[in-house]
Amino acid sequence: MQKAGLNTSCVHAAHSPDAVTGAVAEPIHLSTTFERDADGEYPRGYRYSREGTPNRTALEGCLAELEGGIGAVAFASGLAANHAVLDLLGAGERLVAPLEGYYGTLRQFAELTRRRGATLELVDFCEPSAVKTAAAGGARLVWVETPANPLLSVTDIGLTASLAHDAAALVVCDNTFATPVCQRPFQHGADLVLHSATKYLGGHSDVLGGVVVVRSDAALLERLREWQRMAGAPLAPFDCWLLRRSIATLALRVRAQCQGAQRVAESLAAHARVERVFYPGLVTHPGHAIAAAQMRGGFGAMLSICIAGGREAALRVASRTRLFRRATSLGGVESLIEHRASIEGSGTRAPQNLLRLSVGIEEPEDLLEDLAQALA
Ligand code: PLP
Repeated sequence: MQKAGLNTSCVHAAHSPDAVTGAVAEPIHLSTTFERDADGEYPRGYRYSREGTPNRTALEGCLAELEGGIGAVAFASGLAANHAVLDLLGAGERLVAPLEGYYGTLRQFAELTRRRGATLELVDFCEPSAVKTAAAGGARLVWVETPANPLLSVTDIGLTASLAHDAAALVVCDNTFATPVCQRPFQHGADLVLHSATKYLGGHSDVLGGVVVVRSDAALLERLREWQRMAGAPLAPFDCWLLRRSIATLALRVRAQCQGAQRVAESLAAHARVERVFYPGLVTHPGHAIAAAQMRGGFGAMLSICIAGGREAALRVASRTRLFRRATSLGGVESLIEHRASIEGSGTRAPQNLLRLSVGIEEPEDLLEDLAQALA
């Protein structure tokens, strides 16, 4: 059969009408326990909900298909998904990670490598020679986030994967910002894809979740599933259901959000009160050429801007928006604006005059008008 288009997969991947009732919308199975047959077997494949539930199976199957992997493992948050992958690191082993990335992930790296006697090497992923040196001699994991918090820097996934594989390391790619709509890291050689499902996959700022997708290694998939069972931190049925429901509109939402973000970025780049715009869709962005080669259908819907006049001026702009909500997080249908240094706290790499914008699905003209009045 011809491979399905993206919107078709978003609607139909790992989803068919309920076998018992014919319900077209997926039912929610809240039961924690499942009945054995008289012979003691579990022929329907479910025993106890920590180990597996129908809603989790549906979500994991859908994400495996969207990313093009053999399986996915869903957790109670993005950081829990990260944690499962970090559990692959043994004492004395090395994690190579970018200097720029989600601050919660970077803190998790520092703490977890310290506790397990592993080493952490942070490098500038825009410098392939630095990645090569850091990975050489037995790194276990090379972690990519692209586009990355908070400056939207872009990593060449294919080049990084080939350098990491030369050193026999596994390549993990946080695909939260791009989503499978704009970027398929497995096509560029990544071994594992991560998502904070809280963001675009959920898309409505009402569910916390995380997912790891495995490209091809069945033993690795089983090891992550075992961690999911042992840590006792799977995603609950209702949250799985919410996510699977939201993914039906993922491509529609993300494509619209990318178009809006491109317009907002282009308009702000020409604004006198904006010193700099960080958006991979602008030709002036240092990672634009790489992003154009490895992304498709848009450059994501996250951008950061530096406001002329410093921290106070940036805070003033954020205080004046009406449609853009002042809140952290990203990926929802509503646009958000955030003074990034305030949330990241000490050690932040975000300039003090930087505002991060998550562009939602509102009409771009309305968003531009809102920003214009806030900047006036
Ligand atoms: N990865 C990225 C790129 C993120 O932005 C976040 C959260 O903001 C996470 C991972 C962590 O996800 P969660 O908040 O679902 O634990």
